[in-house]
Amino acid sequence: MHQVYNYFGYIEKKLYCEEVSILNLASKVGTPFFVYSKKAILDKINQYKEAFKDYDTLICYALKANSNLSLLKIFEENGLGADIVSGGELYKAKKAGFSSNKIVYAGVGKTDFEISYAISENILSFNVESFMELDVINEIASKQEKKANVSIRVNPNVDPKTHPYISTGLKKSKFGIDIDQALDAYKKAVKLENLNVVGVHCHIGSQIMDVSVFREAAEKVVDLVFKLKKEGIELKFIDMGGGLGVKYHPDDNPPTPKDLADAIIPVVKQTGLKLIIEPGRSLIAEAGALITKVIFLKDKQEKHFVIVDSGMNDLVRPAMYNAYHHVLNVQEKDEEMIADIVGPICETGDFLALDRKIGKVERGDLLAIMTAGAYGSSMSSNYNVRPIALEVLVDGPNFKVIKEREDYKHISKYEEEVL
Ligand SMILES: *Cc1c(COP(=O)(O)O)cnc(C)c1O
Repeated sequence: MHQVYNYFGYIEKKLYCEEVSILNLASKVGTPFFVYSKKAILDKINQYKEAFKDYDTLICYALKANSNLSLLKIFEENGLGADIVSGGELYKAKKAGFSSNKIVYAGVGKTDFEISYAISENILSFNVESFMELDVINEIASKQEKKANVSIRVNPNVDPKTHPYISTGLKKSKFGIDIDQALDAYKKAVKLENLNVVGVHCHIGSQIMDVSVFREAAEKVVDLVFKLKKEGIELKFIDMGGGLGVKYHPDDNPPTPKDLADAIIPVVKQTGLKLIIEPGRSLIAEAGALITKVIFLKDKQEKHFVIVDSGMNDLVRPAMYNAYHHVLNVQEKDEEMIADIVGPICETGDFLALDRKIGKVERGDLLAIMTAGAYGSSMSSNYNVRPIALEVLVDGPNFKVIKEREDYKHISKYEEEVL
């Protein structure tokens, strides 16, 4: 196979995922669909495990990157924990078999219902994002006659040098408690009877391409751990969050799990505390592609448009962050064209790629939108009453549908019921 993009490559001008022809897949399941390479996922898991094997580390997969149950099962079966941000993600994590003592729960707006649910499941830690949340968790835990494990999410004021919408560790951000207020938060937390203070958490952003910012954040967190120790507050672990970047453009050269480990372990080691990390994107992004079919071609004076059967409802990243996704022809072509690849949704922002050079396509040809495994299906919507895309997992020469295609009846079910 002529490998052009991770686990995707061409054999006789046809694109394959592992040993499965995308053309054959499409003829069986229709388009659009997400396809994932199991080998890509397993290789990434093993890279993480290998990189962190010499330090006591729990790797918690961040469900929000992609919460398909069949994919979650792969992470769970390989010993990973789960990082969740909602009651719905807790439900899915439990469904996939994650044990509660490997589940950590972040998020600025946990509802009473979600807090109560997570306490009753005895999760490893709430990553608490405000003073008020400490009080509320304490109160709900007391009603259940339980002690809830809490860590404080601190905001180390480190610039991750990524897209502003996915920078989460700056002072002006809604996330976490500013690190200079953290000591007060801990002093408050240890006084609350139904809380067990177990750790410290930070997550500075996503798609980070320079690991020095992780080191910088770890140094600030470790300083705090020593300050807390002086005050008699002993923690069990340091959670450094997720955020490792991935390859979107073929020329991108993202850091590896080993680079991340080398940046943070020497710093965290000074405390002797257990380490937690929460990778999402870097475990699943490159394993997935979105396959879509060309419906129409349209030439205007200024531009060529390739109109496809998938858009921002399946993959919102281009519309939302102006993100780059590489586009491959499923059938390699001899001639080239430059076009905007746009979806069917009634929004100007509904594009998958702009001014992009691809092989010259015709109506009915297929395109693969690469690196779509993370924040693709998990951010999809029914906008324009479009069914959520089907998902397929490829394993060597075999494939399995891991999410059926929605039908119209299903989309409007809860409205029909009350009509
Ligand atoms: C989104 C998120 C992650 C995962 O981030 P990636 O960039 O996908 O690795 C981890 N932890 C928290 C708290 C998050 O919000």
